[in-house]
Amino acid sequence: MPKLKTAIISLTCCEGCQFAILDLGEKLLEVAEILNLEKFELASSKKGLGPYDIIFVEGTPITKENVVTLIKARREAKILVALGTCADLGGVAEIKNYSRAGRGKMLEYVYKNIEGIDNPKIKPISVYVKVDAKIPGCPIEKKEFLKFVRELGAGKIYKIPDIPVCYECQLKENSCLLQEGKPCFGPVTLAGCGAICPSNNFICEACRGPIRDRNLTSLKKILGKKMAVRELMKIAEIHGVKDDLEKNNL
Ligand code: SF4
Ligand code: SF4
Ligand code: SF4
Repeated sequence: MPKLKTAIISLTCCEGCQFAILDLGEKLLEVAEILNLEKFELASSKKGLGPYDIIFVEGTPITKENVVTLIKARREAKILVALGTCADLGGVAEIKNYSRAGRGKMLEYVYKNIEGIDNPKIKPISVYVKVDAKIPGCPIEKKEFLKFVRELGAGKIYKIPDIPVCYECQLKENSCLLQEGKPCFGPVTLAGCGAICPSNNFICEACRGPIRDRNLTSLKKILGKKMAVRELMKIAEIHGVKDDLEKNNL
């Protein structure tokens, strides 16, 4: 199979997901056997020229330029992948959607001169363009990216199994933070990170977004006895997944 002509591009974000790819180290050579990385914005100044077989889009469409870039990417890509939670679900930038003061007040608080600064409601890239696949996480799990690329090499698109973080957490025989009354989102969050946070005694903040078959009401009830639901859902605002968790289905 010929190599797939590929671009990895960024909208507004911290570029941590591209760093996660770079962090593959020597495994990047395996990636390069499958993908012809014509454009990899963090790693190379090569401009690249479309069309592409596949474009990975990282970040949130915040500015008008971001939206233009995204729409152009969709036109140029046979397969378009949302890379990381910013692209997939809105990500950390979405915190301002939840602000009680409102986005305008937040902008005024952060910038002295707000003239010409775009301040739209934050939305995932799927609101603007059709998305063919996603690799969730903040940042993405580099091993999952590699798995995704290997599947591409076999002519398939890797679909992340719809199982919760608790599954991976229990395989590691961790003691359960939820049972200690801590606000762990593991039961409603998509696995694939190896339950890295609870394995290190941190709660799962749902950065990979929700599983399809989730019961948020039940989680709220369990924790309701120990903490206010508002306090609980504030944690889900960190990665911008509160609205996604609260939707009936994704
Ligand atoms: S998903 Fe997280 S790590 Fe990736 S670009 Fe967004 S903020 Fe950075
Ligand atoms: S610690 Fe969190 S992720 Fe682990 S089993 Fe308990 S609720 Fe699930
Ligand atoms: S345990 Fe939860 S917060 Fe931590 S990386 Fe996994 S999904 Fe994200």
